[in-house]
Order: sequence, then structure tokens, then C-alpha cells
Amino acid sequence: MSEALKNKVAEVLNEPGCATNTAKADGARKKGCTKQLTPGAAAGGCAFDGAMITLQPITDVAHLVHAPLACWGNGWDNRSAASSGSDLYRKGFTTDLSELDIVMGHGEKKLFRAIHEVIKEQSPAAVFVYATCVTSLVGDDIEVVCKAAAEKWGTPVIPVNVPGFVGSKNLGNKLGGEALLDHVIGTIEPETTTPYDINIIGDFNLSGELWQVKPLLDKLGIRILGSISGDARYRQVAQMHRAKATMLVCSQALVNVARKIQERWGVPYFEGSFYGIADTSEALRKICGLLVEQGADVELLSRCEALIAEEEAKVWAALEPLRPRVAGKRVLLYTGGHKTWSVVAALQELGMEVVGTSMRKATQNDRARVVEIMGDANHMYENMAPREMYDMLRDAGADVLLSGGRSQFVALKARMPWVDVNQEKHEPYAGYMGMVDLVRAIDRSVNNPIWADLREPAPWDVPLTGGAVLPAPSGACPVTHVSAPMGRAPTLVPQTPSSPEVQTPQAAANPLEGLANSATDFEDC
Ligand code: SF4
Repeated sequence: MSEALKNKVAEVLNEPGCATNTAKADGARKKGCTKQLTPGAAAGGCAFDGAMITLQPITDVAHLVHAPLACWGNGWDNRSAASSGSDLYRKGFTTDLSELDIVMGHGEKKLFRAIHEVIKEQSPAAVFVYATCVTSLVGDDIEVVCKAAAEKWGTPVIPVNVPGFVGSKNLGNKLGGEALLDHVIGTIEPETTTPYDINIIGDFNLSGELWQVKPLLDKLGIRILGSISGDARYRQVAQMHRAKATMLVCSQALVNVARKIQERWGVPYFEGSFYGIADTSEALRKICGLLVEQGADVELLSRCEALIAEEEAKVWAALEPLRPRVAGKRVLLYTGGHKTWSVVAALQELGMEVVGTSMRKATQNDRARVVEIMGDANHMYENMAPREMYDMLRDAGADVLLSGGRSQFVALKARMPWVDVNQEKHEPYAGYMGMVDLVRAIDRSVNNPIWADLREPAPWDVPLTGGAVLPAPSGACPVTHVSAPMGRAPTLVPQTPSSPEVQTPQAAANPLEGLANSATDFEDC
């Protein structure tokens, strides 16, 4: 690893804007919260992946991965970050290095040519060039190549020097943000500015969640000047330094960016959430409060309160018909960061009981909020292996699991309804009306008649008693089209069930077959 990259990693790990980090002793603080990854344990992505997650939603940029083909997954199916314009960000560009390129030292030349080709063919607003393990280990200097290419073709070419081996996905999120600070933010002046311009950092417009919030800001006359990086354009990122306030949606990922924008250009920031009714209202109040402090007209505060009253009345009216369908249901939350608490209050308000919420990737503030909302810390738990989660689902007697996609199979093994609330979900749940969509999804899942059927033993597992015999097969097999021999019913010996709950031989042997034992964090947030 180069000296510059080592220094950058050390700086990012020792983040003064992170309450968890500042609360640690000196030595521990410098190591950040990064854990050593366990090879092969689906640990949730490398640092390169983290940088891509942060930057890929910038929609009019060509994202060029300097690597053998495998590092660049499937751009169309990454996270469902939505765009209201260009879909260039979804196209996969890679230098596709071969062994020969690596052995012969052709990497930098190939990268230079690839940048030219992508500028010529796609006319992007900028090209982001990502280093990876292989290209860093062979010593390709992407910074020099990017500089030369930008000078030659007049398009910004941004080096993102975050090879996978530097650490975890979360570290990669922050280093991706550092690339924006070093090369993009502050490089373009907006045509006009107003006292109502804000930045939103850490929202990626997954399934269009930002669009559930933007109409509220529009009603208040607030403009999203800069965004990292939900539905963002390159220009929007470059002019973030002229906003009047920043809302930091996921502090774990990009607190370094919000803090440095505040330090360099005096743009104050706060941490907030658009998940849940009370938190959406609180976020709107804080945005307006900060804008007024920065020079917006004070009447913004009363307009904000009027909007909150109107929207809250609307959302509770929309939730009322769902109350009888979900009241009394017990919910287990296995997600991360601010989502550990931000939907809890609204679920409780509708009569649901939250039996537990995970504290993965949660800050001290997140923990304090859980205690405040749930009364004590008994309902908080840390990472858990699939086996433990299975036991907990059974023991806690939860009616539904709210989590990410990788836990869905544990829920299915426990024959438990499941709702996806993480990044791969296909429905947006942000803002006021997002809460209605979430409760509808819980209703659809928890009241689905399939669960009653699923918990019954399969017909072929029910022992035949009292001399019963199966009917003789008739007709033709739908697959082989071979007709059944007529008049030959199978002879079955009646059995006596050994226990009230009848199980298949496999299930009886080991219902947890296939679940991993590792306590490794196997889930994203
Ligand atoms: S950057 Fe490294 S760790 Fe990440 S996918 Fe590529 S080779 Fe694997």
C-alpha cells in the first residue's frame, strides 16, 4: 500500500465526527471500528465495493473499474439506486486486465486507452476510475493516468484509489467520500444560490426513497443543491460547498465528508433520518432550523410546522385501516444504523410489539435512541449467527422478521414471515407515505395464509392410520406421459405417530441443516 493511501486510511479511521470513535481510548480510536474480515464468510464486501456503493449512484458518470473482469459485479443489479435521468451509472466499464497485461506491465496504457474510449463513446460528465487489489499490487499509478487523461480530453477523470485489501466495505464508503473531497467537491460554482439550498449525504435513493421526501422539501421551497449520492449528477456533487446546511442520513458511512464540508466551507450538518413518522418530522424541523440560522426567512419555521401537521394527519389517517390487521403482532428487527430505532416508534404506535432490534453498525446515539424508545437495553442485540437467529425467532415468538435479504432463508427455515427493509428491497419506505407502504408490506406478509399451510405437516408426511390406503394412481404422468398401471393400489402399512408434531426424517434429524455457525456479520444495512 502506498504511503499516501496508508495515511488516508489512518486519517479516516480516526474520525473525530464519530461519537463511537471519540469515546474510545487513544490506541483503539486510531484503529476505528473496522473488523478483520473472515475469508469466505460472505463478510459483506471489500473496501472497493464500499467505494462503489457510495459513488455509483452518481448517475451521469462513467464508472470504470481498473481490474480483471471479476471485481465489477453486475451494475444493473447492484443496489436499486434509482435515477430520474441518465442510466450511464449502471453500465459496466472495466479494463478487463488479462494475465498477459499484468505480466507485461500494460495496465496503465490499457487504462489510458479505456478512459479515451469511454469518453468518446459515452460523453460522460466525468469518469471515475477505481483501483482494485490486482492493479494496486502491480503498482499501477491511477492518479497519474487520470491526470494525464483529464488534461488530454478535457473531461474530469477522478481516481478512486480504494483497493479491496485496505479493509471493510464501511471503510471503503468513507474513502469513496474522500475521493469526492479531494477531486470533486468545490470544483464547480452553482449558477445561482438561495438561502434554501441543502445537501443530503448518505442517502442513495434506493428504490426511489429520496423521491418520497423531495416533494416535502419542494413544498417548503427547499432545494437539494448537492447529494451524495442519491439520484445525483456530477455537477451537484461538485457544487455542494455552496449549500447552507447538510443533512447526514447515514453517519456511519460518510460522517467524514459532512464534517470536512463544514470545516472547509462552513456548511453546518446534522444527523437525521427519513424513516418513521416522528423522525421525518424531526428531520424537516432540523433542516428548516439550520437554514433559518444560516439566513433563511424565519417564516420557514411556521410553514414547516404547518406542513408537518398536515402530513402527519394524512399519514395517520392512511394507517388507521391497517391498525386492526397488524396490532398485537410481534416484530423482530435485524437491520443496521438508524433503522434500528427509526421505525420502532411508528410500529409501536400501531400496536405492534418490537421484541428485539439489532445494534449492528449502530452509533452511541442509535443505542441511546433505542433505550429511549423501548424503555431499556434488553431488546438490543449485536451480530448473530444464523443458528442463533433461528433460535431467537422461535424463542421470542416473533410474528414477522424485518431484515435484509440474507436473513430471509433463516426466516423461511423458521417458517416466519419476512419483510425486506434493507438495500436490496424493491419498495421505498421513506418519508410519511413510506411508512404506510411498510405497514402494508408487514400486513401482506404476516396475514398471508401461506404461513398456516406451511406450518402444517405436508400431506405425504402424515402417517396413514386405521387401515387407510392411498388411491390407485390414474391418468398419465405429466412429465413422462407414461400411463399408470390400472388397478394396482400401493399397499401401505398403517403407522402410529410417535409424537404430536410429525416431522420429516430429515427435519427430525436436523432442522438447522445448512445454517452457518459463524458469528461473522453476514448482513448488510
Ligand atoms: S478489489 Fe480485491 S477484494 Fe475487492 S473484489 Fe476486487 S480482488 Fe476482490
